[in-house]
Order: sequence, then C-alpha cells, then structure tokens
Amino acid sequence: METTKGFIFDYSKCVGCHACMIACYVENSTKPPLSWRQVNHFNKEKLPLLGFIHLSIACNHCADAPCLKACPSGAYYVDKETNAVIHTPELCIGCKYCTWACPFDAPKYNPDRGIIEKCHFCYHRLKENELPACALNCPTGALSFGEITKDSNPNAIGLSKQEIYPRISVRGSEVLHTVPLSDINSTGLNEKDIEKFHKRNDDQSVSPLHEWPLAVFTFIGALLCGWIWSSIMPNSIKINFWLFGILGALAMIISALHLGKPLRSYLSVLNFKSSWLSREILLFGLFIISGISALILQINVLLIITGIVGLAFLISVEMVYNITQKRYSTPIHSANTISIALTFAVVFSQIWSVLIALLALKTMLFVIRQGSKQFVYQPFISFITFFRLTLGFLIPFGYLAFTEMSFSWIFAGSVILGEAIDRLMYYGDFEPERPFENVSLQK
Ligand code: SF4
Ligand code: SF4
Ligand code: SF4
Repeated sequence: METTKGFIFDYSKCVGCHACMIACYVENSTKPPLSWRQVNHFNKEKLPLLGFIHLSIACNHCADAPCLKACPSGAYYVDKETNAVIHTPELCIGCKYCTWACPFDAPKYNPDRGIIEKCHFCYHRLKENELPACALNCPTGALSFGEITKDSNPNAIGLSKQEIYPRISVRGSEVLHTVPLSDINSTGLNEKDIEKFHKRNDDQSVSPLHEWPLAVFTFIGALLCGWIWSSIMPNSIKINFWLFGILGALAMIISALHLGKPLRSYLSVLNFKSSWLSREILLFGLFIISGISALILQINVLLIITGIVGLAFLISVEMVYNITQKRYSTPIHSANTISIALTFAVVFSQIWSVLIALLALKTMLFVIRQGSKQFVYQPFISFITFFRLTLGFLIPFGYLAFTEMSFSWIFAGSVILGEAIDRLMYYGDFEPERPFENVSLQK
C-alpha cells in the first residue's frame, strides 16, 4: 500500500499536557492565543462519569487540500520535497475563506497582521531529517511522526470529507467508545448537553455580526442581477446606469472591508481555475462592467449577456457557501441568492401572481430553516424574525391583496428589507466543519 510521511496521533496516550502546542510556539516564535497546533478537549469541565479525552491537531497537509483549492489568491502551494502545504503571507488577502474550507481548523487568522498563519509541517526540519518540533516534544508518544498510509481512520477525527486524504493516522480511538450514552444520562445530563462538550477551541466561527459585509455584497449582487433580468421584460421598472454603477461599486467597497488586506484585493482573481470565491469576484466585476455598458448603450443583446453573466455570478456565490455545514435540513433555503434575484426580477417586472407564489414559498422555506435549528429564546433574534416575516411577506401580501396591484417604492422597499434581513440571518445558519465535533462518542 502507498505510504507517505505524516502525523500519528494516539488518543489512548494523550494526557492533554499541551507540550506539543508549546513546542510549536517555541519553534516558530508564535505566541498565544494564536496557536498553529491545538489540543481539543472533550469534557473540559471534567464532569464525573464522563471521559476526559484530548485531540492534538494542526494542519495535516492533506494530499487533496481544500484550502489550496479554495484560496482565491493562490496563497497556498505544495512543497514537492516534503509534501507540506505551505501558506505564502505575501499573497494572502485575509479573506479567511480557507478557514471555512479546512475541516481541521488549521488556518488561523492573525488580526494584527490581517492574514492567515498556519503549521508548515516543520518542513525546514524535515529537510534536515529531523522530526517536527511538536512530535519530538510529546512526552507520552501520543503525537509522533512517521510512515502512514492513506487509510488514516478519518472518522476518529470527525472528518466528513474523507477524500481529502489528511496526512494523519489516528490510533487508540477505542477510548472514544468508553463514554456510552447511558453514562452521560447517569450524570443528570441529556443527549443535547453533549454538544456543549464538543465546543470548538477558538472564535473562528461565522456570524452575521462578523460577516455582514459578505451579506451586503451578495445581497446587492442578487438585487442588481434580478433588476437586470427584469429589464428585458415589458412593463418593467427600468434601472439607470448611474444607480447600477453606484450600487455595484458600493458592493465591491463593502466586500473589501471584510478583508484583512483590502489593498491586496486585486489578487483575489488569481486562482479562478480552482477557487469559487475567485470566480465569484471575477464574475461580479464582469457583470458590473457589462451591465453599465448595456445600460448606457441600450443594446438588448448586451443586456441578455449581462443577465447570463449575473446568473453565473450567483451560481458561484452559492458554490462558495456550499463547502460549509448547514444548521438546517432543506436542500434549498429562502436566502439563496438566485431566489432573491428571481424575487426582484418579478417585483420589477410587476408580475404579481408569480410574486405572491414566490413570497409564500420563500416564507415557508424561511420558517422551516428557523424551525430546524435548536430553539433557544433570544429576544433580538425573535425581533428580527418578526421583521423578516412582516416586511418580506405580510406587508407585500396585504398590499397586493388590498390595493390595485401596481408598483410602489414603499411596497418594493418592504420586499427589499425583508429579503435583506433573511440574507443577513443566513450567516448564522451555517458553520465551517471542525475537528472533533463530529466524532461519535456514543458507540
Ligand atoms: S509541525 Fe511544526 S509548525 Fe506544525 S504544529 Fe508541529 S511544530 Fe507547529
Ligand atoms: S489540514 Fe486544512 S489547512 Fe492543512 S492542508 Fe488540509 S485543508 Fe489545508
Ligand atoms: S487569501 Fe483568503 S483563502 Fe487565501 S490564504 Fe489568505 S485568507 Fe486564506
């Protein structure tokens, strides 16, 4: 069987002493809280009758690395001699997309530098035939380094994307099964409490508060796309090139605010061959240029081409988010950018019967999405959920039911706000995959 060099981790030997983390700090002159190697703990609170289990993990230099494919600026490369997946700081724009793509939470965002940092396999040591510092300094032999096969027991690290071939082999995973559900019940806890013990070690999670520039960018993109689609219909509310250009420029500026290195944003189109994020940015630029030209020149063929480029842009937006884990169960959701664009295409085309059906469908999908999450009463979430339903459905529905069904900006504004709230809330409904979270402790 084909072998390669990689980490070997033995659950049954790890005592959670953090010596590997400290060795990594010393070797690379890094310091807490930004740690290239993490030690994850199950049952950090040390509750009686529950096992206290640890997992030391860093970058596993995957043979088919998703970070490398996802990075829009091509900041990752593979060192041929050691197979190390290396990050190039000079090419990083600080978009953090690799933190979504990596299921091991290995790329770490350094807010002081505005870029990512991560484990480099100690490739300088490997080239001298020395062990990585973390493996060398593990006192119990739980973390070591050597020949491994592709069969690395990914279930034991909670990996769902098994085809990426991380260079880690996991041993001693039978200790995971020493925490049967019956023991958990005997502590007075219930099955849902187990989620608390799988908590991630860092704050690289996704939330509307952090990701609002992305929500605004994708929402404006969908709004403009729907408006362009409607412009080839008779009786549509036309958009002029000034408004189109200003909104497009605003979307780009706001999305750049999200970057750790906004002045490097031009690098984001370099990896369009493999990165959906790179394609998304490139297609948005083409969409805006093509749209402005079509609106100035009033050439219908150019408008149709713009509409097609816009659709390609929205497909790439959806592909960007496809790599994350969803907290809802439906295959499509109400904040999908293609459905937002369709809604606005119908609003600006004034096709009211289709609009009523679309709003009803989207409201149903929104309710299912919210309902499929574990319910925790949060006054602010309840408040914006109320506004999403009122502005996005009740007011437009009432307006269309009780008036003569004609376009008004108050009505359109209500739909726009309802859809915008939905898009923003969506950023609380998915999360990147993380190590240990999917490990089954109950077999
Ligand atoms: S291989 Fe080197 S850089 Fe990577 S975690 Fe270990 S000590 Fe840190
Ligand atoms: S562990 Fe994460 S950062 Fe490392 S190569 Fe795999 S996907 Fe990339
Ligand atoms: S450019 Fe983005 S995806 Fe690439 S390494 Fe930097 S933060 Fe990660």
